[in-house]
Amino acid sequence: MISVAYPIIEKRERQLIKEVLDSRMVASGKYVAEFEQSFAKYSGAKFGIANANGTTSLHTALLMCGIKPGDKVVTTPFSFIATANSILFCGAKPVFADIDPETYNIDPVELEKILKKEKNVKAVLIVHLYGLSCDMDAILKLKKKYKFKLIEDACQAHGAGFKKKKAGSFGEASAFSFYATKNMMTGEGGITLTNDAKMDKYGRQVINHGREGHSSHTVLGYNYRMTNIAAAIGIAQLEKLEGWIKKRIANASVYNEAFADLDFIKTPIVPKNCRHVFHQYTIRIKPSEREKFMKYLADKGVGSGIYYNCVMYNQPYYKKLGYKAGLCPQAEQAAKEVVSLPVHPMLSKEDIKTVINAVRSYKLS
Ligand SMILES: *Cc1c(COP(=O)(O)O)cnc(C)c1O
Repeated sequence: MISVAYPIIEKRERQLIKEVLDSRMVASGKYVAEFEQSFAKYSGAKFGIANANGTTSLHTALLMCGIKPGDKVVTTPFSFIATANSILFCGAKPVFADIDPETYNIDPVELEKILKKEKNVKAVLIVHLYGLSCDMDAILKLKKKYKFKLIEDACQAHGAGFKKKKAGSFGEASAFSFYATKNMMTGEGGITLTNDAKMDKYGRQVINHGREGHSSHTVLGYNYRMTNIAAAIGIAQLEKLEGWIKKRIANASVYNEAFADLDFIKTPIVPKNCRHVFHQYTIRIKPSEREKFMKYLADKGVGSGIYYNCVMYNQPYYKKLGYKAGLCPQAEQAAKEVVSLPVHPMLSKEDIKTVINAVRSYKLS
């Protein structure tokens, strides 16, 4: 089966892990600091705080922005549950703004409607979904007008860009995940980026029990630290990330061309000014066909996935909190139609042909 995700582990990863194990500095250590600096530099941010996973990165980013109980944070409904959960961790209230059905990202027009209606929105948490940057011109314009803190969930968008800047460098803080299936990985891992020295200092306390200096605990903190082992993998992966991204982009464009004449699926678009890094290559198909289509692909040896089949506010826990279905119709429709195909850099020419032939030979019921 050609899988949707494939964690790449090569000689360099093994070599650096061995160095860490041999040094016995398996918890914190110098690889963490090195990884923080190189990832922050790559992404165009001043500071990077490596931590346990993308979820802790989001929580840390929100705390660094001063999100407190009772605050309102606007976000997209169409993302991994960790996005909205991180708002709940702060005791704050997620408010959902619908997506643009073309890009799957938060729609700036819908965002402004919410900002006009809801008083005292403290922050906006955007998600660069599937590796495609949000419309940053529109969002930064709204930020100026409505004066909210901007936080980026860039967990799927390592190396993605808008105009000359990289995803994760636009807001007060941003969060990345290095989970096994992301475009680069450390097993579990994450990083929070910021350009603000004070926020960086506080973020470092958040991930380390609120510690200041040697043994003084001056704020509430957690153990969200990244291990030296994970950081060693991250260093090796970051060296290869650009090459992998280029392969993902090339694979996606081969698909887009091969599927251009098919009218039963809708292929992904790349808006002007955006660098889409194709964490997922996501197409749409009629809801009544999706299950059959995926089963057909599987029979031909092609794996596929659904990201995500339920908007976050329709999850049982969010329903208990009082959120009602129908809030964001575009996101709910996307959740019924999306299917992601394998696009990762380890696909062979043969694999790509297999995927194309499988999709092209599908017959609608
Ligand atoms: C993966 C992901 C997360 C969470 O990251 P973990 O490392 O799994 O905690 C958050 N948001 C989005 C959009 C993600 O894709």
